[in-house]
Amino acid sequence: MRDYSTLIPAAPLIYRLGEERNNEIYIMRDDLIPFSFGGNKARKAALFAAKAAQSSCDCFVTYGSAGSNHCRVIANIAAAEGMGCTIVSPESDGEAAFSRLITKEFGARVIEAPLDRISETIDSAVSELKKSGFNPYFIAGGGHGNVGTQAYFDAFAGIDAYGKANGIRFDSIFHASGTGTTQAGLICGAMACGSDTKIIGISIARSKQRGADVVVRSVTDFCGCDEHLAREKVIFEDDYTCGGYGKYDKSVTDTIDRVMRMYGVPLDPTYTGKAFAGMNSYIKANGIQGQRILFIHTGGTPIYFDYLRSV
Ligand SMILES: *Cc1c(COP(=O)(O)O)cnc(C)c1O
Repeated sequence: MRDYSTLIPAAPLIYRLGEERNNEIYIMRDDLIPFSFGGNKARKAALFAAKAAQSSCDCFVTYGSAGSNHCRVIANIAAAEGMGCTIVSPESDGEAAFSRLITKEFGARVIEAPLDRISETIDSAVSELKKSGFNPYFIAGGGHGNVGTQAYFDAFAGIDAYGKANGIRFDSIFHASGTGTTQAGLICGAMACGSDTKIIGISIARSKQRGADVVVRSVTDFCGCDEHLAREKVIFEDDYTCGGYGKYDKSVTDTIDRVMRMYGVPLDPTYTGKAFAGMNSYIKANGIQGQRILFIHTGGTPIYFDYLRSV
């Protein structure tokens, strides 16, 4: 197995984007990580690949929807390594998302199942592979778990180094929060660096209650800290979910169009567009001014193209 960690830049690509509502906005372009359209799933996948190699696995099994960035990146690694890749996915209709088309191009096997039968479908896929003599490596949907958390624990060290090298202290970091793994990694990284930068996750689907609980658990699982301490650090905002995963409103599409026009940065309606619009609403709602804010572009460029096709 190749060492995919060499694809993750030691110094993250961060630059000053511009002014938003009287705050100085910086952006970290993880969407430009040079593997399979990058994104936070590329950071996580580099670590999963190393784990799979350590345990001599010869195929991957994972879970995700048709637009899943995670599944695309894992299928890409599997294809590059000549390994099998099985993706369990909720039944979908309509035009295939670009990530799904790319995933199929890599030769991944996609098994669709009704939502209430996902976990048994995963179990049977894994056990059938084992019965046929394979040694599958299972990755939870979205790369959730300590390995995924490690990816953004490591990324925070790069952000901290950037701040120190450039004499910049970020008041807060905003990003799209889904399974909460990215957020948990950033929080653990900030604690390890002794940084007081606030990590603000804009929920792309989950309620504040559920989403925050999962981030807290991911933080305590990863760094072994006290639950109260973890809870104090978790800011998980669910005011901008637009009613659920993949749903969006005009403020999201206006944001996508404006950010592309003004800055030449593609955002998508499921993750980063929602998070950027949510960041601006949060700034307004909380009267935040004169701060230095870092927005992490967590990837998902193929969904930008899905979006273009739909308008
Ligand atoms: C998966 C994903 C997220 C959410 O990451 P989590 O670690 O699951 O919270 C955010 N943005 C993009 C583009 C993603 O693909």
